[in-house]
Amino acid sequence: MATERTFSIIKPDATRRNLTGAVTKMLEEAGLRVVASKRIQMTQAQAEGFYAVHKERPFFNDLVSFMISGPVVVQVLEGEDAVAANRKVMGATNPAQAEEGTIRKAYAESIEANSVHGSDSLDNAKIEIDFFFKPEEIVG
Ligand code: UDP
Repeated sequence: MATERTFSIIKPDATRRNLTGAVTKMLEEAGLRVVASKRIQMTQAQAEGFYAVHKERPFFNDLVSFMISGPVVVQVLEGEDAVAANRKVMGATNPAQAEEGTIRKAYAESIEANSVHGSDSLDNAKIEIDFFFKPEEIVG
C-alpha cells in the first residue's frame, strides 16, 4: 500500500442536482481526503483536451457537450492506493452495471451523465492533476 494522489471530477449532472456534498461524502467514506477542490465551468477547449484520448470515439462530441453543460468540481484526492480506491467507489462506467454502494449506482443518470470522473492509473492521475491544478493549490 502506498499513499497516492488521484484526480476526480464531479460532473455536471451531479452539480446540477446539488450532489457535490453527497458525492464528496462517499469519497471521504472510501478513505479519500480532498486535498484540492474547485468549482469551475470547463471551456470547450479544456474538455476536448482533457478527453483527447477519446477523440475518435463515437461519443466524443456528446461527452464534450455534456462536460461543458454546467459547472463541475475538480478535486485532488489523497489516500492509500487512492487511484484504485477511487475507481472502486465510483463504480462501473455504465450505472446499470455499477455495484451497490458505489457513487454511480447511487447517483448516475446514464452511461454519459455518470456523475464522476476518476483517473484510471497513477500516470494519468499526475497528468490530469497538472491539467487543472497548480502545485500550490494542493494542500495535503
Ligand atoms: N462515455 C459515454 N459513452 C460510452 C462510454 C463512455 O458517454 O459509451 C463517457 C462517460 O461519461 C465516461 C467517459 O465517457 O465516464 C469516459 O469513458 P471511460 O471509458 O474512460 O470511462 P470511465 O473511466 O469514466 O469509467
